[in-house]
Amino acid sequence: MSYQALYRTFRSQRFDEIVGQRAISITLKQAILQKKVSHAYLFTGPRGTGKTSAARIFAKALNCHNSQDGEPCNKCEMCLAIAEGRLEDVLEIDAASNNGVDEIRNLRDTVKYPPVLATYKVYIIDEVHMLSTSAFNALLKTLEEPPAKVIFILATTEVHKVLPTIVSRTQRFDFKRIGIEDIVHHLKDILQKINVKFEEEALYIIARAAEGGMRDALSILDQAVSFIDIENTLTSEDAMMITGSLTKDMMDQYMLAIYEKKVEAALEILNDIFSQGKEARRFLEDMILYNRDLLMYKHAVQLVSETRGVLTDTFKKLATELSFENIYAYIKLFNEAQQEIRLSNLASVYLEIVTVKLATYSRASSVVQPEQSNHKNWEFLREELNQLKKGITDLQKGTNTSSEDRLINTISNSNSSKNAYKNPTQQIHQVLLSATKAHLNTLKEVWPDFLASLDARCKAMMKASKPVAASDTQMVVAYDYDILALKASQDETLRQVVSCNLSKMIDFAPELIIVTSSEWPKLRQTFIEKNREKLQLDKTQMTQENVAKEYEGAEIVEKAVQLFGKDMVKITK
Ligand SMILES: [Zn+2]
Repeated sequence: MSYQALYRTFRSQRFDEIVGQRAISITLKQAILQKKVSHAYLFTGPRGTGKTSAARIFAKALNCHNSQDGEPCNKCEMCLAIAEGRLEDVLEIDAASNNGVDEIRNLRDTVKYPPVLATYKVYIIDEVHMLSTSAFNALLKTLEEPPAKVIFILATTEVHKVLPTIVSRTQRFDFKRIGIEDIVHHLKDILQKINVKFEEEALYIIARAAEGGMRDALSILDQAVSFIDIENTLTSEDAMMITGSLTKDMMDQYMLAIYEKKVEAALEILNDIFSQGKEARRFLEDMILYNRDLLMYKHAVQLVSETRGVLTDTFKKLATELSFENIYAYIKLFNEAQQEIRLSNLASVYLEIVTVKLATYSRASSVVQPEQSNHKNWEFLREELNQLKKGITDLQKGTNTSSEDRLINTISNSNSSKNAYKNPTQQIHQVLLSATKAHLNTLKEVWPDFLASLDARCKAMMKASKPVAASDTQMVVAYDYDILALKASQDETLRQVVSCNLSKMIDFAPELIIVTSSEWPKLRQTFIEKNREKLQLDKTQMTQENVAKEYEGAEIVEKAVQLFGKDMVKITK
């Protein structure tokens, strides 16, 4: 016996068996019961939601002589012939296939003949939006003057591509995505029929991956079932493997690294995940669900333990120790990344960036509102200060031997291990010497166009930065995260592409110089102070008559105005 795919074996044969489309089933049954059948129907909705199954059941019910309650009997010769596709009065045309055009041409010629055996001639046209214009016109003509005893069922996943003149001549049914619970219920039913044991969680993983399509759910289940030994149980790990979802262990590890602010570890895990061929989109979905589960677990333990099976120790630890605010912030960042990667063909860079953001979240407490960078710097400094203060108090108390270590740790952590980016102070001061507000403004003006001109990878890197100073040969851009500053500074291609693309938009090709947002205000300040000393040196050499004009037009003031704009510069004695 040849193997039959589950979705064929378990295709619904009655309206009552169609999952998740109750309203449609009832309406169609009523139409048959009351013999109020329209001559054209339009079934729209995502793939695998039951459109074709419903069309076939409808064709059977229309022609079945033993039809009861609007359902086909599935036993009579008519039902069987339709089910096996050998009744010439019921014709299925796939408009997406190559012979679709010929079939439609054929339809035009044969549509006028009455049904041979059946009561109704039924034309099921799948993916009707794929019809050529001439085929569409032919169809429209037929719909305008429908022959008696002919019924059209048009099915499409993209109703907006169907001519409005056609849509208006049909009775339309919108098939919804099938709910997770409905899919799980159906999968459970099938597994019991074929005697396969399963973990409930596995079915949820499959149902989620199917995104509301039963056909997808069943073909994933098919793979899963052939993958496991029949003696074995379908586990959630099996389901994760097949759907490309992340294993619980991977999610645990990743979130733990985020929670412990181990940026490098988190990036390594991310790389492992991708090297195993996981999709970025699926990764984000899984992480959002994971965090949602954390929230649910925090609210009510039983919410998670009952429906989702295995709770690991790491999961429980994270749920206990992370604050609600923290988890919400994570979810927000994952959500934003989902938006970003939709527009990008290189998702891994965005995910690296989001990983860095997540792993540094509570340090830079306004990651969620990156526009408030000043505020963030203050928060950052305040936290650093608090940590230092605490270390010093501990040290003074001398109560325990580890406090000295802690202070040293605190200090070295603030320069954070080997990932720390060393700001090129000299170079930045060099730029500031010849930088002007005008150059910076020009740069800011073209920035959106410039970002748009970059390929996905460079764009992702540059999008995380912002220009803060520019001269006619160089520009300084600031990154909120050390690790991104480091990455960008080591990326020779990026530097070249940036200069090259910018030179096409402005009349200079600035060299890329990178600063961290946290250090930038300090670097700028030291620059001003350094030059003020120089200025004061000049001042002592000034003659009396020049003193009146001592500030107006003074080099440093001009410089400052040039750099930061008039309203930003306030002269104080
Ligand atoms: Zn029948």
